[in-house]
Amino acid sequence: MSVDDPTKIETRCCIAGGGPAGMMLGYLLARAGIDVLVLEKHADFLRDFRGDTIHPSTLEIMYELGILEDFLKRPHQEIREFAGQIGDELVPLADLTHLPTHCKFLAFMPQWDFLDFLKDEADRYPAFHLKMEAEVLDLIHEGNEIAGVRAVTPAGEIEVRATLTVGCDGRKSIVRDRAELQVESLGAPIDVLWFRLSRRPDDPGQVMGRFGTGKILVMLNRDDYWQCAYLIQKGAFEQTKARGLEAFRADIAALAPFVKDRDVELQDWAAIRLLPVLVDRLRKWYRPGLLCIGDAAHAMSPVGGVGINLAIQDAVAAANILARPLSQNYVSLSHLQKVQLRRELPTRVTQWAQVQIQNRILNAALTSQQQIRPPLIARLFQKFPVLRRIPARLIGIGVRPEHVKTPDIGD
Ligand SMILES: Cc1cc2nc3c(=O)[nH]c(=O)nc-3n(C[C@H](O)[C@H](O)[C@H](O)COP(=O)(O)OP(=O)(O)OC[C@H]3O[C@@H](n4cnc5c(N)ncnc54)[C@H](O)[C@@H]3O)c2cc1C
Repeated sequence: MSVDDPTKIETRCCIAGGGPAGMMLGYLLARAGIDVLVLEKHADFLRDFRGDTIHPSTLEIMYELGILEDFLKRPHQEIREFAGQIGDELVPLADLTHLPTHCKFLAFMPQWDFLDFLKDEADRYPAFHLKMEAEVLDLIHEGNEIAGVRAVTPAGEIEVRATLTVGCDGRKSIVRDRAELQVESLGAPIDVLWFRLSRRPDDPGQVMGRFGTGKILVMLNRDDYWQCAYLIQKGAFEQTKARGLEAFRADIAALAPFVKDRDVELQDWAAIRLLPVLVDRLRKWYRPGLLCIGDAAHAMSPVGGVGINLAIQDAVAAANILARPLSQNYVSLSHLQKVQLRRELPTRVTQWAQVQIQNRILNAALTSQQQIRPPLIARLFQKFPVLRRIPARLIGIGVRPEHVKTPDIGD
């Protein structure tokens, strides 16, 4: 990285956004000896509304990178089977124990710990640079090319010039907006209310969803507390508030009776955060000098908890395809197009499945006046356990899993 003047930086690859996509891409490129600068607008990774699931395919990537053992030393929970609670019935949904991966489980780890881990690994390489509290505001245009970004830091504005700029700045990506890349929205009939309740050692195990009459609650085990996601129809937060906090607490207690005495922890609406759900994708993920990956290229629904995994897979594919051209300081449009071609199918298939589940199961359950019954597919999973391996494969590995092909030039 060249910084004669600290406000004017030159690097080979500038990554906007230090989420799963940006940190993994930065790590892989630096590991391959490519000078890379990641700009992250927050001061730390500590944000509560991020997903927490590390899938078997991501764990496999870490195995290939030789960092899996260290990763698994960090506090996490391992989930081998998923089930849903539909009324009084516990319905098995997926069995990960037969996956052809080293880890036959999904690891739950707060995303900030996962990102800290990637940062620690990437920091071993001199080509890796990360600037926190650096918010990308705009792109630098040179003719038809994107030549870098302008960002603001606590010390003032900076200009970063790069052979390639990668937008990894999530679903509200400023990069894709400034690059005028066209977005296709797939819609989403649901939003999520996000809050915590304390967890006790004798609480029941984790299920992937509790379905009551017109209500759905997901509870993620974070050891000493439950991270709760209560689903509502899109735009219905004001309506939910209008019913009052007492009614809301009663709904939670009805879905998860074991937390009944913990409803005092929801003292006011400030404890409950609205996370709007959206599903979209770019028609074209690139233009000369610029590429978008992860949620910046395709915003994912929380359904199936696969967005982080897809972002990581995008990063691995992008590094595999772009490391060599970047090392030669020439990235053509066809290199960028290759990344989209490689990752478009997994994106489309995953989003299609998310939209089907959102519309046919979740929205149907939210609008139903009576307790829904387990759908036929869930009954088949109940009767024929071998079938549970199919959703396990879709969730745990996904479509077209990537493998690390970039070299490790040593630290
Ligand atoms: C309610 C909800 C729950 C979810 N739960 C899960 C789950 O459990 N498991 C799962 O796999 N997926 C989940 N997802 C989806 C998942 O969060 C995303 O798909 C995933 O985080 C995408 O990773 P990313 O790196 O592309 O983007 P992000 O994780 O959004 O990271 C983008 C990064 O860019 C930074 N940034 C943004 N703008 C700028 C800027 N201008 N300059 C510099 N930095 C910037 C942000 O601070 C952030 O660090 C959930 C989504 C929602 C809405």
